[in-house]
Amino acid sequence: ALSRQVHQARLEVNLSALAHNLRAYQRCLKPGVKTMVMIKATAYGAGSREVARLLEYLRVDYCCVAYADEGTELRQAGISAPIMVLNPEAGAFEQMRLQRLEPVVYSLEQLNNMSQEALPHGVHLSIDSGMHRLGFDLHEMEGLLDYLRTHPELHVKSVYTHLAASEDPAHDAFTHEQARRFNQAYARITAVLGYHPLQHALNSNGITRFPQYQQDMVRLGIGLYGIDVSNTLPEPLQVVLSFKATISQIKTIAAGETIGYGRRAQAHSLMRTGTISVGYADGLRRAAGNGAFSVGVRGKRAPILGSVCMDMSMIDLTHIPEAQTGDTVEIFGHDPSVQELAKILATIPYEVFTGISQRVKRVYL
Ligand code: PLP
Repeated sequence: ALSRQVHQARLEVNLSALAHNLRAYQRCLKPGVKTMVMIKATAYGAGSREVARLLEYLRVDYCCVAYADEGTELRQAGISAPIMVLNPEAGAFEQMRLQRLEPVVYSLEQLNNMSQEALPHGVHLSIDSGMHRLGFDLHEMEGLLDYLRTHPELHVKSVYTHLAASEDPAHDAFTHEQARRFNQAYARITAVLGYHPLQHALNSNGITRFPQYQQDMVRLGIGLYGIDVSNTLPEPLQVVLSFKATISQIKTIAAGETIGYGRRAQAHSLMRTGTISVGYADGLRRAAGNGAFSVGVRGKRAPILGSVCMDMSMIDLTHIPEAQTGDTVEIFGHDPSVQELAKILATIPYEVFTGISQRVKRVYL
């Protein structure tokens, strides 16, 4: 069983690196600022149960998931920290009450539907300060304030907004405008409530780029998983996720022969190829094929030959004669980095991480 597991594509999750990254961000927080950690989408691909258990042990203040089912999974894993649910499914309010999950409320329509169902233990109000995704519009504030005035039983745990471009200096004026709109909305809400729910706005990049808006809490996501997009953290983050496979077979290919589906790669002279245990069903996109991307083997780089298959890919080992069957191949991690792969795929590390399919075994280090 062990050899099979080692053979397959796997995603190594370095939990001590994750702990390091949490502390690196927390060192940038002003005293008393709380930390909410993003554990949605299976903890950005890292595996929600294991990541949440570690983060709870490290005493984060809040967990955040996208759906009620994701929150329920955390409760089943024994997580007792408060959990905010970003996109609560209509009809999941009873489930959320039973599991002590705290829904985000973003519209009057949602509030009106909710009052007919069981009231949750606490809610979080999402304010649309300019992202224009989910959240109360600023021109809807009167309706929200009326609702809060007439429903004092609703316990508002926090009021938050989300920044559209916290990583990009070209949009800093707009980020400040979002903060201004948000602070104004927050002031109006607290005036009606008579108490001060937690106020929060910052994602990973915001924490380092806009410390003046740390407020009561920050929402740390991609930074935990080792990516400092804006490169503004005073200390380096550690690599958390490494996507690895194994060389299953090595072949010597005669000049003129072709490799793989569609015969897209051809040996121009005698060539040494390796077949590796990772394909598009594992989340290695076909766009990485045909030499677009090179994987790491024994400290060197081996280009992917021809088309990425469903479960396998072929790589060029001609210039790595020391490579052997059973060798580990790094798709991303230390070298190559996930940023390099993301760039070649014209995407961002978030999409690469969450695109690693569920059949890939997560191995915790
Ligand atoms: N807050 C909200 C509402 C989010 O949707 C996300 C992530 O998508 C985050 C915070 C965390 O962002 P990041 O991963 O960039 O830190």
